[in-house]
Amino acid sequence: MLPDKFRLQIPGPTPIPPRVQQAMNQPMIGHRDPDCSNMVAQLSQRLGPLFGTKEPVLLFASSGTAALEAAVVNTLAPGDEAAVIVSGAFGDRFSKILSRYDITLHQMDVPWGEACQPEQLARFLQKHAQVKAVFLTYCETSTGVLHPIGELAAVIHRETNALVIVDGVSCIGGVESHFDEWGLDILVTGSQKALMLPPGLSFAAVSPRAWQIIEKNPRPRFYLDFQTYRTNIAKETTPFTPAVSLLFGLAEVLAMIEEEGFQQVVERHQLMMRMTRAGIRAMGLTLMTTDTHASPTVTSVMGDDNGSADALRKELRRLSFRVAGGQQHLKGKIFRIGHMGYCDPIDVLTTIATIEVAAKRLELPVQLGAGIQAAEEELIYVSHTRN
Ligand SMILES: *Cc1c(COP(=O)(O)O)cnc(C)c1O
Repeated sequence: MLPDKFRLQIPGPTPIPPRVQQAMNQPMIGHRDPDCSNMVAQLSQRLGPLFGTKEPVLLFASSGTAALEAAVVNTLAPGDEAAVIVSGAFGDRFSKILSRYDITLHQMDVPWGEACQPEQLARFLQKHAQVKAVFLTYCETSTGVLHPIGELAAVIHRETNALVIVDGVSCIGGVESHFDEWGLDILVTGSQKALMLPPGLSFAAVSPRAWQIIEKNPRPRFYLDFQTYRTNIAKETTPFTPAVSLLFGLAEVLAMIEEEGFQQVVERHQLMMRMTRAGIRAMGLTLMTTDTHASPTVTSVMGDDNGSADALRKELRRLSFRVAGGQQHLKGKIFRIGHMGYCDPIDVLTTIATIEVAAKRLELPVQLGAGIQAAEEELIYVSHTRN
């Protein structure tokens, strides 16, 4: 194997496009320089379509979790009640953050691998209609489930006056989002997933309704006070030194998305999901979630009782191919394939073919070529209907 060539198909960090890598190499500029102000103001607006909002998007120098924590500390005062839907490791992260901030928490557990159903959420919220905020995960990265956020937000608005706060870290930029239309109040994402950047930036869209609550919230906060970012974005700047190089990269990422067309980006992710699922299924492995709830950005595959998930992941690593393992109680039980950002259908063909090789080497009962044929057929069908 080539010593420095490997494939990174994990659900973040994801590969960086060469032109983005190059953009990040530009000489440093001062963060109070007009060039930087210009860039910040433009980025904040150009991110809007990815979130589905006309609101300016706030930018932070941090990984995604800081923006999740910021969503909590900015909206909830000590003693407030909140609801959190936990269907995997990232819903659980929200729950852990909430539990540190003197908030009375009502947790709705959904079996990992399943999506929260709107009627199920309605019944839950009827018992807790007084909550000030409901925390949801758009794509639950630990299972590969994409939640029906629009429908869930509608239920929350019907049953409560709570803010709708969504973790979109592993899908914004790769799937549709309609922040304004769905009535979301805070939507958070990070740089290292579908936005094909290195880790280190996070983002939040904030609704006018949320601002009213945030302005009145007495909880102390400083670095992650959303209000400071809003005041500064209005002046086309950031309160603290931004991650300038990552912003250069982000400008290039947005240029790439605008060139391809966001709708095409979304369709490419759906195609990669269908190819991955068809391939995995046809080679005889088991998918973790249903077609209805599958995420276009990450696919989880179940292993057998003899530890085949980890064995496959290790064999793939020998082939210089990286996939991710399971988290928490799914450790050793599943492996996860990322297909987002700088990833195309041809990368998926490579993924499926390489998994077949690894499975065959491990003498798992797969039929060589069955997966790759199924994935190819998905691609042929789409290309064919396009032309
Ligand atoms: C990756 C991820 C995060 C953020 O993790 P960081 O390591 O802090 O960037 C949060 N939520 C989800 C759903 C994720 O996939």
